Amino acid sequence: MDKNQSGSDQAIEKGREPSNSVASPEVNLVALAGQKGVQRRDVTVNQINDEIPTGAIPPHMLQDIAKRNPNFRGPQDTLNQMKNVWWWPFPWGGSQPGKSEREVYDANAKTSLPGTKARFEGDPATTDDETNKAYDYTGKVREFYKDVFNRNSIDGNGMKFTSTVNYGQNYENAFWNGKQMTYGRPGADSPFKTFVLLDVIGHEITHGVTEKESGTRYYGQSGALNESYSDVFGELIEQRANNTLAKDADWVIGNGIWKDTINGRGLRDMLNPGTAYDDPKVGKDQQPAHMKDYKKMYGDNGGVHYNSGIPNRAFALFAIAAGGHAWEKPGQIWFAARKAAGSNPSFAQFAHHTIEEAKKQGHTTLVADLQKAWADVGVTPSATAKDTDTPARIRVAPPRKINKAG
Ligand SMILES: [Zn+2]
Repeated sequence: MDKNQSGSDQAIEKGREPSNSVASPEVNLVALAGQKGVQRRDVTVNQINDEIPTGAIPPHMLQDIAKRNPNFRGPQDTLNQMKNVWWWPFPWGGSQPGKSEREVYDANAKTSLPGTKARFEGDPATTDDETNKAYDYTGKVREFYKDVFNRNSIDGNGMKFTSTVNYGQNYENAFWNGKQMTYGRPGADSPFKTFVLLDVIGHEITHGVTEKESGTRYYGQSGALNESYSDVFGELIEQRANNTLAKDADWVIGNGIWKDTINGRGLRDMLNPGTAYDDPKVGKDQQPAHMKDYKKMYGDNGGVHYNSGIPNRAFALFAIAAGGHAWEKPGQIWFAARKAAGSNPSFAQFAHHTIEEAKKQGHTTLVADLQKAWADVGVTPSATAKDTDTPARIRVAPPRKINKAG
């Protein structure tokens, strides 16, 4: 547990504001006067809102890496730069009808988006590996949503898939800003190898789908579910691309993200949360796998990147028990339950909706597997049980009023 986090936990016990709030640039947005619909991320954590997150590497990981490697400026530079990223509330202008075509740009190590044209739909491969991967993997995401959920792009309306590679200098992250994907390029001293990975892209783009489907709030248990939805569908996109059975999948998010010198398999392990990485250079994976280890904290918007381990494990256990391909029946149940659970579900309420949707979809034989999976992570399905595991100030913080374009 890092210093900031334990500070927050002590503050909770004493019932006062944490004195050393963990900066959480992933979530806090400030509507700028005169710029309707355009927002800038703010780095203070004390104002919680329900807007959509971005950024593959959670702020707490960057902070930990920065502390452990004081001579390596990448993580701190990234945290500083993240607050200057402009963010477009999704759906920008309602939706963006199009032909779901891909456009990959190169930022040429600068920070203006989208950059210069690198590879557009139908263009031949270029000499740049990350450009080609961004193009190919975005195609896999598009194909997944079309084939499995008959969904025409992120907004269901053919929105263009725009990506930019080679963003900034020392920019140790990848993000979705409501309009496009953007990838930094790790430097020589970075523990990261690349951010252009299929499940990472699937995770980030799924935040856009979740915003459209259910507008799930990004704090406390609903925020951890929002994170978990992105991990679930990001992982399903990878499993389908590799035609992997649930029982044979690695269930790791971001495999291939670390350099070979780092002791880690990825960013998160859905089946065994808390085991994805453990290295002096980057710290240790802190995700809980069971409600008994639920992290009550102010930082990270009430632990959205930590507590997502609990519903992640429930999904992995369920998909393995159900057998076959996880993107088929389990994926369909999760997709429908996300919408049915609405914008602010507790874990218990979302679990309830997975069981209801399984019945609606005619999978009554899977209900026992679902009940067992939720029981194994300490969640009791309930239509009415609210989130009481997140600190109250986080849980009840009213969404901030934000001007949306169109
Ligand atoms: Zn996320």
